[in-house]
Amino acid sequence: MKGELVQDIDKLHDECGVFGVWAPGSDVARLTYFGLRALQHRGQESAGIAVGDGSTVLIRKDLGLVEQVFSEADLAALQGKTALGHVRYGTSGAKDWEGAQPHLSAIDDVIIALAHNGTLVNTEGLRDELARRNIGFRSTTDTEVATKLIGYYTQKTHRIRDGIARTMRLIQGAYAMALIRENALYAFRDPNGIRPLVLGELGRDRGWVVASETCALEMVGARYVRDVAPGEIIRISDSGLKTMQGLPPAVPASCIFEQVYFSRPDSVVNGRSVFSTRFAMGGRLAQEAPASADIVVGVPDSGLPGAEGFAQASGLPVKTGLIKNRYVARTFIQPDQELRELGVKLKLSALADVLTGRRVVLVDDSIVRGTTMGQIVRLCREAGAVEVHVRINSPEVTWPCFYGIDTATQDQLISANLSVEGIREEIGADSLAFLSVGGLLAACPRSAGHCAACFTGEYPVEIPPTFSEGSFLEGFEPKHLSRRSASLQMSIEELARAVAKKEGVL
Ligand code: SF4
Repeated sequence: MKGELVQDIDKLHDECGVFGVWAPGSDVARLTYFGLRALQHRGQESAGIAVGDGSTVLIRKDLGLVEQVFSEADLAALQGKTALGHVRYGTSGAKDWEGAQPHLSAIDDVIIALAHNGTLVNTEGLRDELARRNIGFRSTTDTEVATKLIGYYTQKTHRIRDGIARTMRLIQGAYAMALIRENALYAFRDPNGIRPLVLGELGRDRGWVVASETCALEMVGARYVRDVAPGEIIRISDSGLKTMQGLPPAVPASCIFEQVYFSRPDSVVNGRSVFSTRFAMGGRLAQEAPASADIVVGVPDSGLPGAEGFAQASGLPVKTGLIKNRYVARTFIQPDQELRELGVKLKLSALADVLTGRRVVLVDDSIVRGTTMGQIVRLCREAGAVEVHVRINSPEVTWPCFYGIDTATQDQLISANLSVEGIREEIGADSLAFLSVGGLLAACPRSAGHCAACFTGEYPVEIPPTFSEGSFLEGFEPKHLSRRSASLQMSIEELARAVAKKEGVL
């Protein structure tokens, strides 16, 4: 898996982080740079910043981490009143420079830049339809199809927000998007609200920010105002903040894996920090699956809040038994097999004086492919642990995600292939238990509704058969995968007819 840290190959990966700012008079590129630094955990393959300077849109993007892509000189050259930034972990299209975002598109003499977190599942047919209209593409990404559709419809309607609204009637899947033109910032979200997008305000009326997580608002000194609503389109310009409903909201389905792993622990979701939610999940886990043990150890960093919650609920002491090597940077150098086998040691060391002679509850956030937990258990035993009881702070990941996460097929998921007992044997633990789906939902702050399809197989948004073909193992029947929805799977032709019928125009 190119571009991955050896030790992170057993995690689900979010596709992207998005940051947009409208703040005339401020250094918008620098604000965006720091916003992207806060969102770096959401994507490490490429980074980009586009700036609207009042007359055009300037862009700099490249492969690499935010701090590798941008120099002082780059930021100094990107001056304007609005800016848009993106960090990417690509799951759709090639992972090359052209796939890096923001994507640009020219609409007559107006240039737009678009950044996307999520995955669109029906862009194949739309790409062909646009190509037949002589619209060319520079990349193979779903995001470029959305960018070109917005351009196409803005040419017809002469208003970007109408271009966005019509595009939302065609695209299907998960999207939290932000867009700039030379003098305005837009933000919009799919009608199920699958991927997160929040709105913040800079103090002293300096302007507005949209971001994938509240940690990016904090980073630039912005105050959280509210979430961008499912199906909403926000426009921010010299005439202030305006909002319209691009599509009616559908079944609410915010991604519950944001709570499990993707979001930073200091981000706030539904009024509570993600840390506190993971702590509460650990408490539930201790009630559901207690263990006779001496200490609780969290796998750094993502297992630590759950370990603390487990310890508090079980009355066992939580100890630092594993140390993360903080200076193993992400690398684009592909590890060979020998290094892969050594992988966990590149990241983690076990503390023998903490673990020797102890019965250990080892808490981690999730097991996805099952490639590293066995190594961590071995590390604990080599450091003297006499028993290792693995407790996972989420349910079993049994189903692939089609909404912006990199589990393309079910055969890659250990829980789809082995029973809990089979996994326990595989990783060499004395016992193994996962949090239940009910326990996970009960530990999360109240929300309108979650997607938990990777745990349950109940998909909130229809997936075209071509997109999910070959993704499921024999004997697994996903639910609602082909549920029809009025706004889904329209072609450009069908939308033209529907609009013409309603409005008398194309
Ligand atoms: S399937 Fe899982 S990872 Fe994907 S959007 Fe739903 S909850 Fe999130």
